[in-house]
Amino acid sequence: MKLKYCFYNNVLRVNIIWIGIDDTDSVSGGCTTYVIYSLIQKLVEQEYDIIGYPRLVRLNPNIPWKTRGNGALALQIGRSIGKTIRIGSTHNQNIVACSILKKDLSSSEYTAVKSLVQSIIERYAKTDDQNTNPGFVLLNKKPSQRLYTTAVQEIVHLTDVVSLLKSHDALYKGYKNKRGLIGATAAIAWSPRSDKTFELITYREQDRWGTKRIVDNDSVQQMDKACTNTFDNYDYTNKHNRLVPHSPCPILYGIRGEHPTDLISAKSMIISEQTMGFLLFETNQGTDDHLQKKTIQDIQPYQSVIVSGTVVSPPRTIPGGHVLFSIDDATGTIDCAAYEPTKQFRNVIRELTIGDRVDVYGGVREQPITVNLEKINIRSLIQIREKTENPVCSRCGKHMKSRGTNQGYKCKRCGTTKNKPKTKPRKRSIKTGFYEVPVCARRHLSKPLKRM
Ligand SMILES: [Zn+2]
Repeated sequence: MKLKYCFYNNVLRVNIIWIGIDDTDSVSGGCTTYVIYSLIQKLVEQEYDIIGYPRLVRLNPNIPWKTRGNGALALQIGRSIGKTIRIGSTHNQNIVACSILKKDLSSSEYTAVKSLVQSIIERYAKTDDQNTNPGFVLLNKKPSQRLYTTAVQEIVHLTDVVSLLKSHDALYKGYKNKRGLIGATAAIAWSPRSDKTFELITYREQDRWGTKRIVDNDSVQQMDKACTNTFDNYDYTNKHNRLVPHSPCPILYGIRGEHPTDLISAKSMIISEQTMGFLLFETNQGTDDHLQKKTIQDIQPYQSVIVSGTVVSPPRTIPGGHVLFSIDDATGTIDCAAYEPTKQFRNVIRELTIGDRVDVYGGVREQPITVNLEKINIRSLIQIREKTENPVCSRCGKHMKSRGTNQGYKCKRCGTTKNKPKTKPRKRSIKTGFYEVPVCARRHLSKPLKRM
């Protein structure tokens, strides 16, 4: 059905509205998930129904102009009936969602929702930040999943998104350079069918925004141990509480996990300051959706890749504590890096040696082109031999003497020479298998080994 045609006849009926929002936050505060939280409350007040969970969709983490986590939001609304699910709360009132559609929305409701979204964005978006370029999109049909795949793995151009929006008769608005339209549309295009996780996000009372957060570390550790279906909660080695963000945004904490019900029970274990409420998001976090299998010659900057290769230069630590090494496959050679924030992970990397076979997982930095490691699968370790003693003369049965560095050995009695000493295999201190960066250095999209 063509929107324009229907407006002329005033008979447009849409059964659902997809709302996509992106890039309303800035490094100094704000949070697109809070914009959705506020929007949902307004929509519910106006008797729209939320269909399913709101979606928090992380996009290409290597994009140089991203604000923070490069997360966009999507929400489906309509008029529905039947069983409801609890997706959040606000000031002790439950927020629910439904799944069965009851009746269609009219064209005037479609435009009314647009005005509502616009007023919320204009109220909360941090447009004074030069890197914040908000956008919102209303669609009554999901765009192809391909748009999401490109947006999480590559770079999507604004002109392509705008022509897609026009061909889908979308209602939309982009602010400043309008880049937010890309994420807003891509978030709607995401389908959680192949893999997904959930995040429960709690929000602070407004008078506490920007103040020190009160979240009890011990309760987070207890929850982490008890709720095995959650992940990336606490980094025991680095004493880092990953639940709590470090920007002055309205979020108190977020818990990531496999199932919404587990997250609600996990939340009940966290001791913290009073919250305004919470919202559950369906997300692509922890799915590795950003990664593509590549040969070295095909790697492009800003992608995230899985590459199989053989270590060709031994790991070296450079100023700043970063550890670099190179691998090659039949097509080329590339540097890999375990940066300082990856902490103990670097100790594994330092143990690699020339000849080891590995699969590296990580984002590609442009200058110089380097794979920034998120995890590594050590497929095979070569045997390293170490000298035990000088060789023994086969004729005389006596130990030979060294002739100097790299000059081999010689028997003092009969003059027999040998090049190599006696050796034994040295025990490698690492084993084959997967190693990942610690929780404190984890990227939103990286699939924790716990989920593999
Ligand atoms: Zn001899």
